[in-house]
Amino acid sequence: MLGLYVHVPFCGKICDYCDFSAIKVPNYFHLEYLDLVNCEIAHFTDTHPGVLNRVDTLYVGGGTPSLLLPEEISCLYEILGSAGVPLRTLRESTMEFNPESCDAERLAVARECGVDRVSIGIQTFDGALLNRIGRSHDAGTGEAALELLTGVSGLRVSADLMFNLPGQTLDNFLGDLRHLSDYPLGHISFYGLKVDPHTRLGYRIAQGKESVDEDLYAPMYRQGVELLAGRGFDRYETSNFAKRGDESLHNLNYWRRGEYLAFGPGAHGFFGGVRYHTPEKYAPWRNYVKSGFPQDMLMLDPIGKDEALAELVQLSFRTREGLDLAELHEMGREIPEKVVLKWVEKGLLERAGNRLSLVGDGWLFMDRVVEDVFLALIPYSNLE
Ligand code: SF4
Repeated sequence: MLGLYVHVPFCGKICDYCDFSAIKVPNYFHLEYLDLVNCEIAHFTDTHPGVLNRVDTLYVGGGTPSLLLPEEISCLYEILGSAGVPLRTLRESTMEFNPESCDAERLAVARECGVDRVSIGIQTFDGALLNRIGRSHDAGTGEAALELLTGVSGLRVSADLMFNLPGQTLDNFLGDLRHLSDYPLGHISFYGLKVDPHTRLGYRIAQGKESVDEDLYAPMYRQGVELLAGRGFDRYETSNFAKRGDESLHNLNYWRRGEYLAFGPGAHGFFGGVRYHTPEKYAPWRNYVKSGFPQDMLMLDPIGKDEALAELVQLSFRTREGLDLAELHEMGREIPEKVVLKWVEKGLLERAGNRLSLVGDGWLFMDRVVEDVFLALIPYSNLE
């Protein structure tokens, strides 16, 4: 399967915790962005003719793609379609919306462009918390966006929440999840807040003006999973929950180490055995496009045998499917039985046929299991 990710870097306001490639600029930058992304895609089609015709899933993310005006959204998809992306026959076409720019007109344009799935960042329904993390929408705007999206026939809708926010209680988070799962959604994601010290929130925490109660992380995650399971949402990846058949095909391809192309500032791709990303920030990316795509401005990371193995272990354990031992065997590696048993006996890992997957609190200790399995597979000499 081949995925395509297009990054739209604009946001109306930069959230206090944001460490993504996002920029707040006047709207007239949108046209320049569309020109640049058009050049980037044209360069790719010149050097890789026919590849875009093979795209199966498209994900337009950000930033805030829905900040583009309706005619700009249409223009972006026109660029993709003219370059050969089969917009009408994709297996999945997702566009990210933010509540404050989620309106009927933009949605109608997106639908005309073949978008069949929308992912919306709600984060929380608590207005005070939204303020505290610097989001630009309020609780009512989030609810109105969900009403609008879930009323569109044939549209798959996914919504994101955050947990372990400063000042958030367990009851508050579970209340958010309950409220969100009352909407007729097929997919919910929830993510624990990760504080980057270089963000405004990180700075406030370092100054002691704000704090996060780390002890709440595990109970929030555990009880959140339980609540969603009771409402028909199955965890198919550590932070992603879907009703049967509503899993994100595009994201599953990432976790299965499938190939995906990427355009836009800071967009990450994996193609021909190489992981790559374009310059993170808007200005260096513009420079990269305007200077004729010099290779030395791209971050290129060819994936060798050991890196492939590390990725397989790390990405597989994130998913419900778990690690395929037959695939490991094909790569000439076996996990020593004592390593498997150690985690099985602790009740954190389960073996079913050829699959090894996390169970129970294993999901909370994923990093430790991954590290242990990985070190058992890779000779120490290769790690130096
Ligand atoms: S909406 Fe997302 S990308 Fe934009 S500033 Fe907020 S966290 Fe960053």
